[in-house]
Amino acid sequence: MREIQIGGLVPFTTIDYPGKLSAVLFLVGCPLRCAYCSNPHLLSVGDGEYDPERMFEWLKQRIGKLEAIVFSGGEALMQGGVVIEYMRRVKELGFKIGLHTNGFYPELLKQASDVVDWIGLDFKATREKYPDLTGQHIAYDNMIRSLDVWLDTGKEFEVRITCDPRYVSVPDLYDIADVLSGRGVKNIAIQKYIAHFEDEENKTTDAMRNQFFVDYDLREALKSMFETVTWRE
Ligand code: SF4
Repeated sequence: MREIQIGGLVPFTTIDYPGKLSAVLFLVGCPLRCAYCSNPHLLSVGDGEYDPERMFEWLKQRIGKLEAIVFSGGEALMQGGVVIEYMRRVKELGFKIGLHTNGFYPELLKQASDVVDWIGLDFKATREKYPDLTGQHIAYDNMIRSLDVWLDTGKEFEVRITCDPRYVSVPDLYDIADVLSGRGVKNIAIQKYIAHFEDEENKTTDAMRNQFFVDYDLREALKSMFETVTWRE
């Protein structure tokens, strides 16, 4: 069987799985090409930098020290069944399994739903703006299908919206919130866009990036629609 390809590791974090000490494995490959991607080195499937079996041995040594292992990327599910199998082995060590996903693979998410305990799902923009931002015209519909797949599981999750002012406006956030609350989503996170690399030429200003965080009406509206709204500045 083909091995999974791991391109990066955060050995210890308190912020990537709610309430749990965790490590994050970054898997290579992603079907999207988001304008603000901070992991461009992970987008193409190639040779992973970390040997999966040596990583598994390292994970065994974390038993009792970590509570959860989060699979991130790239898009971890792009590698298909081998990732789900690896998750299963990691879960058998006693860890909770987290997944950060862009929702592009609803069928694979369904297959993974018995082993994954929690997901952080990206909701990147309104339907109209998704193709421009991600380079994929089916990304929005796939993400909504993934959201519905996960809602059906009844398991915990968070929906994350990264507010890149080139692709998300304050009125867009109201529209996105309507879609999410209409589906019964309880926990969302509003994430600040960090300008980096080539984005600098687009000249988003601090004021543009901060506009969501200083909008009192928006904050109050979201607070009334969801159980938790996490503001990540
Ligand atoms: S989904 Fe994530 S990893 Fe993939 S291109 Fe977008 S930001 Fe980068």
